[in-house]
Amino acid sequence: MESKKFILQERDIPTAWYNVMAEMPTKPHPMLNPGTKQPLKAEDLYPLFSKEASNQEFNMDDKWIEIPDEVREMYKIWRPTPLVRARGLEKALGTKAHIYFKNESVSPVGSHKLNSAIAQAYYCKKEGVTNITTETGAGQWGAALSMAAKHFGLDLAVYMVKVSYNQKPYRRSIMQTYGAEVIASPSMSTKAGRKIITDHPNYQGSLGTAISEAVELAMSTPNCKYVLGSVLNHVALHQTVIGLEAEKQMEMAGEYPDVVIGCFGGGSNFSGISFPFMRHNFSGDKNTRFIAAEPASCPKLTKGELRYDFGDEAGYTPLIPMYTLGHNFSPANIHAGGLRYHGAGAVVSQLRSEGMIDAVDIPQLETFEAATLFARSEGIIPAPESSHAIAAAIREAKKANEEGTAPVILFNLSGHGLIDMAAYDQYLAGDLTNYEVPDAEIKANTEGLQGLN
Ligand SMILES: *Cc1c(COP(=O)(O)O)cnc(C)c1O
Repeated sequence: MESKKFILQERDIPTAWYNVMAEMPTKPHPMLNPGTKQPLKAEDLYPLFSKEASNQEFNMDDKWIEIPDEVREMYKIWRPTPLVRARGLEKALGTKAHIYFKNESVSPVGSHKLNSAIAQAYYCKKEGVTNITTETGAGQWGAALSMAAKHFGLDLAVYMVKVSYNQKPYRRSIMQTYGAEVIASPSMSTKAGRKIITDHPNYQGSLGTAISEAVELAMSTPNCKYVLGSVLNHVALHQTVIGLEAEKQMEMAGEYPDVVIGCFGGGSNFSGISFPFMRHNFSGDKNTRFIAAEPASCPKLTKGELRYDFGDEAGYTPLIPMYTLGHNFSPANIHAGGLRYHGAGAVVSQLRSEGMIDAVDIPQLETFEAATLFARSEGIIPAPESSHAIAAAIREAKKANEEGTAPVILFNLSGHGLIDMAAYDQYLAGDLTNYEVPDAEIKANTEGLQGLN
């Protein structure tokens, strides 16, 4: 009988995260203080983030960063996650390509987000912080952090993008069940929120706005830190457990990926599956292709500009060197809420500018078609975000069919979609549409942003 799943033991959970910055041929550009335009140092972030997260953010030297025992203990609840050969999908596609997926949907909250939530909550606790705050789009990050905060005895306030708050009420219930306070964003509880509600009373929110609100709360509340679920280097670092496990599991399968794919919101799950494999590209041993799959309605890597931009709507954050659609960009209300973010992290942006990373943008209907095929052939209903990776994998397999090749394709299944059934309902009823961003809108949004030197 041929193997379907490749399973590791608890002792195989990685003991260190892989820090890609230590090995990048060209380091990412520094974040800048928006006032002085001077490069930031780790200390500059201490008021906002935990010290350890701030230090990791700037660590260009250590290739391996130890995972604390308390974090590994928590990882044991669901890690290592399975690597699965998608034989059902291969058959449905009639392809000779070998398709594998790393199943991060088996975490208690249903996504990869817990890998970083636990680490960040742990560092806050260790440093004597009592309150933390964050934003969430579709609610995946908020759910993960709610669980982590409760475990380490921290109080958590989550600003949830209003469109998702209404579309995904069960994610709100999940956060509340873990004991978090959830506020629809934009809200009247912050200056940033009040301003945008006054200017645009019907605004349905964006991750950029929710970040502004959470940052404002953290800066105005004693002993409160802000925690971010994507985009930043330390978040990508924590997610490398995904790729490190997958590397061992591909070895068990006797294969090595020709193509590695992740869906792309701010870059954390894509980085997590990719960077550990990329280190063999750096050393010249392998020549794997890395594909970031983003929505056609929010195409920062395929259509955005490489600029210094804010990470949030109101302009509270440092300036980040990123492929961006502009921090004022307001994405369409697609169901892949976790991919509705205007920019890409600094490391991914640098690697993309050097041609180390490919990107594709995929229309919403194609992602649901892929998701449905995957559900019917593999039995797992994927998150709308993850469906972008599946759609990209299917494109690769179809291309291989045309070319008569048989590549090994690995993608990350970042989460399941069992709390997103309203989106599937709409798709099955024929009520979903595609959205594209006009080039003129991107140009108008990014004009005036500072370039990189
Ligand atoms: C948040 C989320 C994403 C997008 O975030 P990244 O930081 O780009 O990984 C993708 N998939 C799922 C299931 C998510 O919850």
